[in-house]
Amino acid sequence: MDREGLAAAIACEDPAFEEALRDEAYRVKVETIGPEVYLRGLIEISNICAKNCLYCGIRRDINCQRYELSDEEVMATAKVASRRHFGSVVIQGGERTDPAFIRKITRLLKAIKEIEPAAEGELPLGITLSLGEQSREVYEEWFDAGAHRYLLRIESTNPDLYHKIHPNNSLHSYDRRLQALYDLKEIGYQAGTGAMIGLPYQTPEDMADDLLFYKEFDAPMVGMGPYNPHPETPLTLSGAPYPSAERRLALGLKMIALLRLLVPDINIAAATALEVLDPRGREKGILSGANVIMPNITPEEQMVKYNLYDRKTLLRDCPSSVDPEKRDTHICRNCVFPFCSLGDDLNGKKIVIGYGRWGDSKHFKKP
Ligand code: SF4
Repeated sequence: MDREGLAAAIACEDPAFEEALRDEAYRVKVETIGPEVYLRGLIEISNICAKNCLYCGIRRDINCQRYELSDEEVMATAKVASRRHFGSVVIQGGERTDPAFIRKITRLLKAIKEIEPAAEGELPLGITLSLGEQSREVYEEWFDAGAHRYLLRIESTNPDLYHKIHPNNSLHSYDRRLQALYDLKEIGYQAGTGAMIGLPYQTPEDMADDLLFYKEFDAPMVGMGPYNPHPETPLTLSGAPYPSAERRLALGLKMIALLRLLVPDINIAAATALEVLDPRGREKGILSGANVIMPNITPEEQMVKYNLYDRKTLLRDCPSSVDPEKRDTHICRNCVFPFCSLGDDLNGKKIVIGYGRWGDSKHFKKP
């Protein structure tokens, strides 16, 4: 599991090796942290962003329809997550540092914490934020208001590659991103990170370094996923080659498996980006060692505008997220949609959904 060995495993395209690796990672996951899979109801609060990342379909300079959920919409959606016993929500959005937005998040965090748990023995909703780089003071304000996990992806730990996929200016600084991650950790968040997999210019050694960074940073949770191109971004339009969809899916699953073997007791998300490449991508992520799934519960009329990459195939999560009639009554346990089949005896793996639980990383609780 050193850099050379990881890079060799990443470069190896032997299907039998890749399958054996995924099976071993799943075995280690169950042995270390149990069969549970935890849910995070994903609320995409806004696609307005001050940044201009070269791979992103909602970057500042792209022409798309912008939205911001109202307080009432966020609260109604969070209540759906509570009623469906998800245990936690993730509030994700483009990066904004304007005072009105910061105040809005603080206000919402406090209000979400006040939602009465849906069943006896359940805690108020756990809250993860994923709102980009902010000042240390803002991170502290949001932590004090009730957020306890924060996902800030490094996207690539190779500074050269980082600067190939971001504009070369102070708003997109690799060092600033690293500093923000260490700020989050020092404040007391469970600070998660992650990177894209299968980017143009990316080598197996780059991906091995990403895995080693997660370990060195001591990240209690990681959300990484395959690169999926958006047709109108500068990175796609540059024509720089990248691996096929089949290869990016295999790489995405392999990175989950390798990370599970490298740091067995952390939380690893089966990213939505896997689902773009395979209708059962997130289930395959779970069977490769991931233990967190984030069903998208953003109101559908807004979800279609959060177009980081081509997400046409994604608009079919829970029916209750797309059918307002079902939102109040539908309970996730009865859902027939893909991620819910995890509750069945998927491939004989005895997966258990951790309903109503925060599902914090065991790694973080270590003294
Ligand atoms: S990747 Fe995030 S920060 Fe970058 S442009 Fe897209 S939404 Fe904004």
